[in-house]
Amino acid sequence: MNKRVVVIGGGITGLTALRQIRQRSPGTEAILLEAAPRLGGKILTSDFLGRPIDEGADAFITRVPWAIDLCKELGLNAAMTSPATSSAFVLINSELRKLPAGLVLGVPTKFFPLVKSRIVSPLAALRAGFDRFLPDDWPGDDESVGGLIRRRMGDQIAERLVDPLIGSINAGDTDHLDAALTAPQLETAARRNRSLILGLREQSKLGSRTATPVFMGLENGMSHLTETLVSSLAGSDIRTGIPAKSVEVDGDKLKVVTDGVSFDSEAVVVATPAHQTARLLVSCQSAAERLSSIEHASVALVTLGFRRQDVGNPLEGSGLLVPRSEGLLTTAVSWGSSKWPHWAGDEHVILRVSAGRAGDTRALALDDNDLVEALLTEVAHILKIEGNLVEWRVSRWIDAFPQYAPGHDRLVAAIERDLRSAMPGVFLAGAGYKGLGIPACIHQGQQAANAALDFLGTR
Ligand SMILES: Cc1cc2nc3c(=O)[nH]c(=O)nc-3n(C[C@H](O)[C@H](O)[C@H](O)COP(=O)(O)OP(=O)(O)OC[C@H]3O[C@@H](n4cnc5c(N)ncnc54)[C@H](O)[C@@H]3O)c2cc1C
Repeated sequence: MNKRVVVIGGGITGLTALRQIRQRSPGTEAILLEAAPRLGGKILTSDFLGRPIDEGADAFITRVPWAIDLCKELGLNAAMTSPATSSAFVLINSELRKLPAGLVLGVPTKFFPLVKSRIVSPLAALRAGFDRFLPDDWPGDDESVGGLIRRRMGDQIAERLVDPLIGSINAGDTDHLDAALTAPQLETAARRNRSLILGLREQSKLGSRTATPVFMGLENGMSHLTETLVSSLAGSDIRTGIPAKSVEVDGDKLKVVTDGVSFDSEAVVVATPAHQTARLLVSCQSAAERLSSIEHASVALVTLGFRRQDVGNPLEGSGLLVPRSEGLLTTAVSWGSSKWPHWAGDEHVILRVSAGRAGDTRALALDDNDLVEALLTEVAHILKIEGNLVEWRVSRWIDAFPQYAPGHDRLVAAIERDLRSAMPGVFLAGAGYKGLGIPACIHQGQQAANAALDFLGTR
């Protein structure tokens, strides 16, 4: 009889895992269970002012190959699109200041553009430059991003540049995010070199000289990726609207329990968010407790549409970032219709406002109407908007951003060890573990599928 793998979760991670199983081992029976009525998880594109506008992820990084390779395999080359502009702004004392040339993940590598930007004080710019002369003071593993930047470049660079940028990607507080996992480029530069700036300059010399943009999106929105992926899985056993309740060991097999049927299987790939995975794996108490200890942050993304003539700011850039010290609900505004060619139109401007991050749940406590009104007041002031909103939409993403605290990699390794001994055949993948970006999720889905198939080979 054919051996069976059950994949739990139909986001990008679970879908990729299923594809890998189908491709590598067509004879293996594979079933995917998804709790929601639709597939795609945090990837969701919907219509807004007649355009395919993403409610969640809108781009993937190209520095690692997994997303771009998958898009190519799925025949999406022609649909890939890059941001029309990479310049962006940061709000300092209620004024927009353009990010200077030479930034790497918020870290300035060029002194004069930093001073000219007026984002930090001249004294803080000087302090940042000390990095080049300070002795090596690397404290060892488990440093936070904030800790690294504060020790090498001072507090203002950490609070006005790096936290707004890296913090907004992770909805996190960079003083509590693991440097090696959240900003590996910075951590490697700092670990391998005495000076962070010199290390980053060295990296850029060694880096690839190809013209590939750093980020790519898809013309019809990011759901085009998950929908094409699902089409490539035609004939597969994919069941939506079926939440798994638990995974249990049953003799030499595993059993995935749902409200109706239970599925016996030899291996299970669990591709659900870590806090939900904790509930599924209660029969391995140590793993469940460790999974529950991973904190998650919530955000609201509010998409706003205006008539172009009502917006005073020319919106020449991809958007703006808001440091915590500004005290606003808004954490970032993506100037979507300037950034993405497929969001642009003559008549309207589309902005996507982010609110909520680790340690700041004020925005999430508001109902939709109050949230839109509060964000509209802030954004209208910053961007000199007059006139009424043409359309708005609120997308709430609750507990959607896992926070990789320092030492997260050891925590994940311990969870994997727990499972290997208590529930052999169970493999974890997804945003909670080894990278939350789309490429990292794709890679983890493929690796978990490979591990499950290798495990079947040993039985
Ligand atoms: C607002 C937002 C913006 C983002 N922007 C970007 C971006 O621009 N670029 C980027 O690279 N990344 C971005 N990310 C991150 C990225 O989108 C996610 O990390 C990634 O999509 C997560 O995929 P996943 O499959 O691991 O998890 P999910 O997408 O969460 O999928 C998990 C699936 O499991 C299902 N599930 C849960 N419990 C059960 C159960 N008991 N039984 C069965 N099914 C279950 C869920 O319904 C869900 O469909 C963003 C995330 C958010 C929230």
